[in-house]
Amino acid sequence: MTWRSAPEGAALSARLAVNPPPCRTVTCPGCGRPAEYSEANRWRPFCSERCRLGDLGAWASERFRVPAEAPTDEDNAPPER
Ligand SMILES: [Zn+2]
Repeated sequence: MTWRSAPEGAALSARLAVNPPPCRTVTCPGCGRPAEYSEANRWRPFCSERCRLGDLGAWASERFRVPAEAPTDEDNAPPER
């Protein structure tokens, strides 16, 4: 069973609820290493604050990096000749 392909914490939590691992550890989405999944680990499902912030940072930057089809005024403005 592979856990590292679980991208979202929500899905991961759902899976854990159905089939919790014996040692309550999950694969950290940030670094891929085992992370303790318990109330003691405030960064769960990440292993540390660094991984959690890093993942959020990557998510945010990726979100902003995506060249969405931004509806700009240029699209509606007639071409200048
Ligand atoms: Zn980690």
